[in-house]
Amino acid sequence: MLHYISFGSGSSGNCSYLFTENSGLLIDAGLGIRTLKKYFKNYKIQASNIKNLIVTHDHADHVKSVGSLSKDYNLPVYSTHKVHIGIENNWCVRTKIMPERVKIIEKNTPFQLDDFTITPFDVPHDSSDNVGYCIQYQDITFVFMTDIGHLTDEIRFYISKADYLVIEADYESEMLERGPYPEHLKTRIRGPYGHMSNLDCALALAENATPKLKHVWLCHLSNENNHPDLAEKSVKQVLRSHGIVAGDGPEADFKLNVLRRKSPSEIFDLSPLPNPQE
Ligand SMILES: [Zn+2]
Ligand SMILES: [Zn+2]
Repeated sequence: MLHYISFGSGSSGNCSYLFTENSGLLIDAGLGIRTLKKYFKNYKIQASNIKNLIVTHDHADHVKSVGSLSKDYNLPVYSTHKVHIGIENNWCVRTKIMPERVKIIEKNTPFQLDDFTITPFDVPHDSSDNVGYCIQYQDITFVFMTDIGHLTDEIRFYISKADYLVIEADYESEMLERGPYPEHLKTRIRGPYGHMSNLDCALALAENATPKLKHVWLCHLSNENNHPDLAEKSVKQVLRSHGIVAGDGPEADFKLNVLRRKSPSEIFDLSPLPNPQE
């Protein structure tokens, strides 16, 4: 059985964990190391089960603890060459990754980590580089994409491949417009290398999701320009206008959850069972 936990999602720190009985994969390490260790303990995650760390991009909220986590758990850290250079130069990352644990991956080139076959793909964002991950485990396709400046054909393709999908819904446009952020920051966030709005996220789902999609998690919600209830409502509303029902009911096409900024999620079970509508 495959399981998923989000330990935190958003500008205060991102870290997710995808695991089976044999092997676990961390995605990003932007929370403080002490907080992460506390969560590992609370969730009874054995240090020996954490095998690898994959990184999307080199912004502090995704990499703050990569070096210390890699050191304390003896983890190889996988990302693109540009992201690794970004980490090396990022002053927020005080403990650097030991050279022997730096693992370089290439976009669109699948690699194997224990039971997982992972394909990184480009996600436009204003970091040194940014990748989404398509992670295959047996018959399950889990897709993770965050900090999405704009949609590309590749991103659309991976949405259509997903059984399980973590996708960014950073801000509600009206809240951003009226909110407290200075103009240059607003321009950055809604720009082509910034973040994805609730509406764009919903449209991306409506236009690209297939009947195999079972569960969507909205991630990286802004504290100032979004709210979990609002994101859920906005996305569900747009989906409904496209004839798609997201939620927990029996009529739902897929489940929808919002990942919290500062608290860990429940442990989600990712079942390989085929969707009854198929
Ligand atoms: Zn981020
Ligand atoms: Zn970012």
